[in-house]
Amino acid sequence: MSRSVLFAAARNEHLKEAIERIPLTRRLVARYVAGATEDAVVRVAGQLVANGLNVSIDHLGEHTRDAAQAGRVAETYVSLLDAVDDGGLAGHVEVSVKLSAIGQALHDDGEKLALEHARRICQAARNAGTTVTLDMEDHTTTDSTLSILRELRLDFPETGAVLQAYLRRTEGDCRDLAYPGSRVRLCKGAYDEPPSVAFQHRSDVDRSYVRCAKILLAADCYPMLATHDPRLVEITGALAAKNRRAQGSYEYQMLYGVRPDEQYRLVRAGERVRVYVPYGEDWYGYLVRRLAERPANLSLFLRSVASK
Ligand code: FAD
Repeated sequence: MSRSVLFAAARNEHLKEAIERIPLTRRLVARYVAGATEDAVVRVAGQLVANGLNVSIDHLGEHTRDAAQAGRVAETYVSLLDAVDDGGLAGHVEVSVKLSAIGQALHDDGEKLALEHARRICQAARNAGTTVTLDMEDHTTTDSTLSILRELRLDFPETGAVLQAYLRRTEGDCRDLAYPGSRVRLCKGAYDEPPSVAFQHRSDVDRSYVRCAKILLAADCYPMLATHDPRLVEITGALAAKNRRAQGSYEYQMLYGVRPDEQYRLVRAGERVRVYVPYGEDWYGYLVRRLAERPANLSLFLRSVASK
C-alpha cells in the first residue's frame, strides 16, 4: 500500500473508528505513545532522563477546530511544564508544540490566536527553565509556521524550529535559520506531499537531508538531527567531526519506541540524544504517520484487521 493510499484511507472517519477498536492498535499505540495522562508522560520522561537521555514531550492532537479547544491545549502545556519543573526535569525535558493544535488552522485570526497561545507556552517554558520547539506540519502551513517562529523568537530566541528535508524549499530555509543560537531540528518529513513541493524518492530526500545537515553543522546554530536512518546518523556524525563540533553543540533526536538501542549507543558514545515522547488520547494521526514510515508495522496491522 502506498503512503498516499494509506493517508487517504486514514482520513475516513468510519475506518478511524474501526481501527481505534482493534486490540492490536492498543499494542502499537503503546509502543509509540507514553500514556494518556500528564502523570504517565512525566514518569516516562523521568525514566529516560535517569538513563542519560533528553526528552521533548508532545501533547497529541492537531487541527483544532474551535478556539476553546485551542485554549485548553495551551493550558495543558502550561500544566505539563509546571509538572516537568516540579519533577526536577526541566534541565533535560522540553516540549514540542503543533501550531494547528493551538488554533493556527482556525479561519478567523487563527495565526494570531496560535501566536498568543505559543507565547504563553514559551513563557511557561522559560519560567520552568526549558524550551519549546514548534513541530512542522504539512507544507500548506510552512510559511505561516516560520512567520510565527520569527515573531516568537523576538521575545523567546530559544524557540526551536523544524525543517523537513523532503521539501524542495528546505535548503534555503536552512540557510535562513542557520544563525548563532538558532535551534533547528532537521527531519525527513512525515506528511503526504505532492511532487510540486516535495521530493518523492527516498534517495532524493536523503541527499537533501545531507545537504541541509552540511549547512546547519557548518554554521554557528544548534542543529538537532532527527533521524533513525543509520546511514544519516553516520554521515551527520562525520560532518560534525569534520566541522570540529564538540559533542553537545548539536544533538541527535529520535522518536519514543523507535531504535531505542541506537539511542543508548549514541549516549554511550558521548552524544547528546533527545527522545520525542508523545502522550494523550488523540493518537490517531501520529500512529498513521508512524505506520507509513514502517511497512513492517503496516503489514502486521493489516493482517490483524483481516483476521477480525
Ligand atoms: P526512515 O528512512 O523513515 O527510517 C530509517 C529507519 O528507522 C527504518 O529503516 C527503521 O529501521 C527505523 N524507523 C523509522 N521509522 C520507524 C517507525 N515508525 N517504526 C519503527 N522503525 C522506524 N516529521 C515532520 O514532518 N514534522 C516534525 O515536526 C517531525 N518531528 C520529528 C521529531 C523527531 C525527534 C523525529 C525523530 C522525527 C520527527 N518527524 C517529524 C518525523 C520524520 O520526518 C520522519 O518521518 C521519521 O523520523 C522517519 O524518518 P527517518 O529519518 O527515521 O528515516
